[in-house]
Amino acid sequence: MIHPNTVVRNVSPEIGVGVFATAPIARGTIVVVRDQYDICLTQGQYCGLPGPVRESMETHMYHDRCGNLVLSWDHARYMNHNCHSNTMMTGYNLEIAVRDIAAGEEVTTEYGLLNIQEPYEIHCGCENCRGRLRLDDIEVYGGQWDLAIRESLLRIPAVDQPLLPVFSGPDRERLDAFLQGRAEYVSIKGLAWRACAGEL
Ligand SMILES: [Zn+2]
Repeated sequence: MIHPNTVVRNVSPEIGVGVFATAPIARGTIVVVRDQYDICLTQGQYCGLPGPVRESMETHMYHDRCGNLVLSWDHARYMNHNCHSNTMMTGYNLEIAVRDIAAGEEVTTEYGLLNIQEPYEIHCGCENCRGRLRLDDIEVYGGQWDLAIRESLLRIPAVDQPLLPVFSGPDRERLDAFLQGRAEYVSIKGLAWRACAGEL
């Protein structure tokens, strides 16, 4: 589920739609949580879908750390990549704002944390664009991403969190343990998952 202060809008004919903030969202705000209403398919279930359904779904799905394909039930699925994204996936199955997001600003995420299975060209138009998403982005940039994410997670108790009430289960317990100093930070490097040859 995505933060309530967001909406889908057209970005450009080349990019299509994206998600935009309708009010300021502070760094440390949980912007997306995985919830029980998201569609979660195993590789086998996904491969068993009719071709047209698979093709329509695949653009908006991501692989979780177990290799399942996840399709957000709301407009979280329309978040675009940016090489300097203002939100990032974390090791807690939530996406966090890693910068303050202004009203009207596009809410973006880092696709390098969503287990793309093929490298591909990107045209996000950002400054110092990587130009291409690569399979080893998480190894190359993971250290700096972890620093930004860890720092942002520590702000969770200090900012408004409309999504916290719907975030529960083992991930919530791990997050609370980290925030209360009872457990180490869970690195995003644990998110990496690769299909075995021939599995996809
Ligand atoms: Zn870029």
